[in-house]
This record gives sequence, structure tokens and C-alpha cells, in this order.
Amino acid sequence: MHIADILARDATSLSFEFFPPKTDAGWETLYRSIAEFEPLKPSFVSVTYGAGGSTRDNTHALVVRLRRETALEPVPHLTCFGHTKDEIRAILELYAVNGVGGVLALRGDPPSGARILALGDFRHAADLVGFIKLEGERLGVNDGRGFAIGVAGFPEGHPETPNTLVQLEHLKAKVDAGADYIVTQLFFDNHAFHDWRARCDLAGIKVPIIAGIMPITTGSGLKRMADLAAGTCFPASLLKSIQRCRGNAEAIENAGIHWATEQCRDLLDNDVRGIHFYTLNKTDATKRIYKTLGVRA
Ligand code: FAD
Repeated sequence: MHIADILARDATSLSFEFFPPKTDAGWETLYRSIAEFEPLKPSFVSVTYGAGGSTRDNTHALVVRLRRETALEPVPHLTCFGHTKDEIRAILELYAVNGVGGVLALRGDPPSGARILALGDFRHAADLVGFIKLEGERLGVNDGRGFAIGVAGFPEGHPETPNTLVQLEHLKAKVDAGADYIVTQLFFDNHAFHDWRARCDLAGIKVPIIAGIMPITTGSGLKRMADLAAGTCFPASLLKSIQRCRGNAEAIENAGIHWATEQCRDLLDNDVRGIHFYTLNKTDATKRIYKTLGVRA
């Protein structure tokens, strides 16, 4: 299904991100989670793509399985770092044959020390977007409209481009190359999101913007997030509420879910086009947020 049809149907798209696990136990957890998520009728579910290569085939297998065995709309992430055009074409053909109508097009991150130019046929995500657009049309995906293409946005900036005006130009280049929507990096400060969304509009970026939300559920998870999403602001009031719960795992989880719920409520109040939950393959936090918000369940 094309994202334009999904967004026409759902006033606010609500979606989940999964990752392909590396262990048998991880797969069991994931399939249990998928069974619990399906009745929530998400607008779509996305599946991450291991930039390092180890889980890439698992992404394809999971996406195809979701398409065949569930009513969920799978959207595979696809990173171009280190890929040749022929490799990307083969992946897109696999998705087209299996009725997958959309892709989240990303650059991915080079292993530290690697030279971007030396590895693969694509330098930036915008190059991948243009390629996917042409291939999707050639393959007749979505009745000839091509793949629905999502791209990444960074409300608090991307570490490689300190100049925030230039960064918006790079985001606009992805939209001009054919991106249909933007999914953001996780954030905890809604003011940063609202301001960035307004700046996108001023820069002529008019495609729907879907907000990425990840509830903090453990103290160690917070540290991992700070590492993974470099540059993300952790507001003092969030840190204070986590600190007050120190030593009490249940209280930390409650505080983190409360914060994410308030973020979602504010986003809905401010007419966000969609919320994308980074689930880490677990259901509890997202389901609790759903219940509290009174959105479809
Ligand atoms: P780009 O848009 O290419 O941008 C990367 C950097 O290059 C930016 O600093 C940008 O400003 C700069 N740039 C862009 N164009 C130019 C230009 N013409 N000249 C100079 N500089 C330029 N990673 C994975 O490995 N697997 C995943 O599944 C995955 N999923 C993600 C999902 C979301 C929603 C998000 C937000 C990120 C995800 N990532 C994933 C991480 C992502 O691949 C990295 O953050 C990467 O560093 C940026 O990817 P991008 O697609 O935004 O790249």
C-alpha cells in the first residue's frame, strides 16, 4: 500500500519499528510481540536493516513473512552504504515480487574509519531515493506509482552536518529526489520537534513528517539511547524524574512511559501527521501509551 493511501485513511498514522533479532530467543520474543501488536492495527510496521551486514538477509525474510502471514503493512529500511546498484536493484525486485509497496531509504553509517566514497555506489541517501523511485516505476509497484519512499529526519541535527541550514537543504534534496514522507530520529524535547517542523516548512519541505518516539524503560536503556542518538537532548525534568526513581526498576519504567505518553499527547494536540514507536521488539510500553491516549486499540 502506498503511504499516500495510508495517510489519507489514517488522520494520524501510528506505526511500530522492529529489528531482526540475532538469536532464536529474540525471534520468539519478536513473533510474540507481532501477535500482540497486530490487533492494534498499526498504519504500518518498519523493519530495520543492519548496516554492518549481519542481519540484512533477516530483514528481507522478516518483511516477506510479515507480508505473507499477517495483515500488517511492512516497510523495510534499506541502507545504501556499501551497496552496489545491482545489489539494491535485486533487493527492490524481491520486495516488488512480494507485494511490498514502500521502503525507508537511508544512507546508514560507515564503520568508524571507513571512507564513504570508497564503499558502494551511493554517497548520500538522496542518491538512493532517486534510484528507488526509478526502479519502483520500472517494476510497476503500487500500480505504476513506484515505491512509497520514506527518509530520515533529525530534529536535533545530524552530527556530520553542524550547519542546520545546510542540513535542511540536504533533507530537501531527499524530498526533491522523490521521498514521500519523513520519519524522525527519536527525541524527548517536543519543542525541538515543533520548531524543526516549522523550519522544514519554511525550507519548502511539505511532505508528511512522522515523529519517532522511544519510551525510556530502564536506566541502562537511557545511556544506550544517548550513545545511539548522538546530539539528542535529554531535558532536565526528564532526567530528574528518572533520578528520583533510582534503584526502582518499575518506577523508572513508569516515569519513562509517562514522559513518552505526554510527548504523544502534545504531538496529537499539535496535529502531528504520524507517530512511529521505536519498540525494540517489546510491546508493554507502546501498548500502555495506546491505552492512555485513547487512540485506536
Ligand atoms: P543522509 O541523508 O545521506 O545524511 C547523512 C549525512 O550526510 C547528514 O549529515 C547530511 O546532512 C549529510 N549530507 C547529505 N547530503 C549531502 C551532500 N550532498 N553533501 C554533503 N553532505 C550531505 N541505520 C541503519 O544502519 N539501519 C537502519 O535500519 C536505520 N534506520 C533508521 C531509521 C530512522 C527513522 C532514522 C532517523 C535513522 C536510521 N538509521 C538506520 C540511521 C541512519 O542511517 C544514520 O543516522 C545515518 O547517519 C544518516 O542516514 P540518512 O539516511 O539521514 O543519510
